[in-house]
Amino acid sequence: MKKIAILGSTGSIGTQTLEVARINKDLDITALAAGSNIERLEEQIREFHPELVAVWTEENARKLRLSVADLDVKVVSGMEGLIEVCTHPETELVVTAIVGMIGIQPTIAAIQAGKDIALANKETLVTAGHLIMPMAEKYDVRILPVDSEHSAIFQCLNGENQREIGRILLTASGGPFRGKKRGDLQNIQVEDALKHPNWAMGRKITIDSSTLVNKGLEMMEARWLFGVEPKDICIVVQPRSIIHSMVEFTDGAVIAQLGTPDMKLPIQYALYYPSRRYLPGERLDFGKLKEITFEEPDMETFSGLGLAFDAAAVGGSMPTVYNASNELAVSLFLDRRISYLEIPEIIAWCMGKHKTIPDPTVEEILETERQTHEMIESRW
Ligand code: NDP
Repeated sequence: MKKIAILGSTGSIGTQTLEVARINKDLDITALAAGSNIERLEEQIREFHPELVAVWTEENARKLRLSVADLDVKVVSGMEGLIEVCTHPETELVVTAIVGMIGIQPTIAAIQAGKDIALANKETLVTAGHLIMPMAEKYDVRILPVDSEHSAIFQCLNGENQREIGRILLTASGGPFRGKKRGDLQNIQVEDALKHPNWAMGRKITIDSSTLVNKGLEMMEARWLFGVEPKDICIVVQPRSIIHSMVEFTDGAVIAQLGTPDMKLPIQYALYYPSRRYLPGERLDFGKLKEITFEEPDMETFSGLGLAFDAAAVGGSMPTVYNASNELAVSLFLDRRISYLEIPEIIAWCMGKHKTIPDPTVEEILETERQTHEMIESRW
């Protein structure tokens, strides 16, 4: 039995990780953490019997303690609770499926406790990749990508020499507004932006996919995971999400990973790496598929993508500003307090005002996040 803990077990990646556990039967769920969905968490406790669970507020922890009083489970709360879940002594691997920069400290705690990481929480690498990757090497833990594109790149690199990467070809569906121009995006409503053509995901990442900010975050995630320069990461729009990404090597050979869009595949690959397991589900039918088409991304309409390359080129604390301003802008858009096109405007405004810290510590990263949010709140 492989012992795993899941941060963000009630979300899209978290529930699909538990689905993989349901299919395989040899994963022992030691600990779970969620934000506020204590009803779903209770169902998960009753089905998977973790020894430890964390929720964000102490009030929810109290409610949950009462509702699972018949079970042998410890309920904790807050950041300390998240860290306790990540460092649970028997856990071998932690799935970081929590959304946002709140994932940084628990991920660091897990690495320092020697746990392998199945990383979905891209915000951790975007903002603190310069700290996380050397730390993983020091503590001899593996950072296994869960994001489908990064899992694809990881699979393409199997048996290859990372130093022989020419370019990473990061594929993008282009989102629900592919082909539209700025003028067409003036009146986009929350419901329009939440309709992703190929993937069912959490709300924040779905909006990020529509603005292509998600691709920008993925580019920064890839740079740290695979040790490449941002200029060597090329975004390729491939609308049906059949090719999950590709690697071009120095001799010009391109290796791609293909499959139907199903997050359970990269999740399961990370949990069992380097083994592959049978995974039920649809298979690609090339007779029906007939063609796979490619386009260049429209950086003018989707300016959030270009801003990611700018932030990566500056480095230091700038990717934190990019990520933190987007996080708050997306939540303001979801609350219908700003328009769709204001999302990249807010990111650009915050980046323009920021004085970069070259090699930020965790404290400086979190302080940059706080200051960025404060700046936005003072104006919007
Ligand atoms: P969801 O919004 O669906 O889920 C987020 C999870 O985080 C929920 O379980 C939520 O708990 C939990 N959470 C939020 N705040 C806290 C907190 N303060 N304390 C503890 N738990 C908290 O997000 P996704 O699953 O879509 O995404 C998760 C991460 O994975 C993101 O970084 C995303 O970019 C990345 N990712 C997602 C993909 C996808 O297909 N969904 C693909 C690739 C990467 P609750 O709901 O109980 O409040």
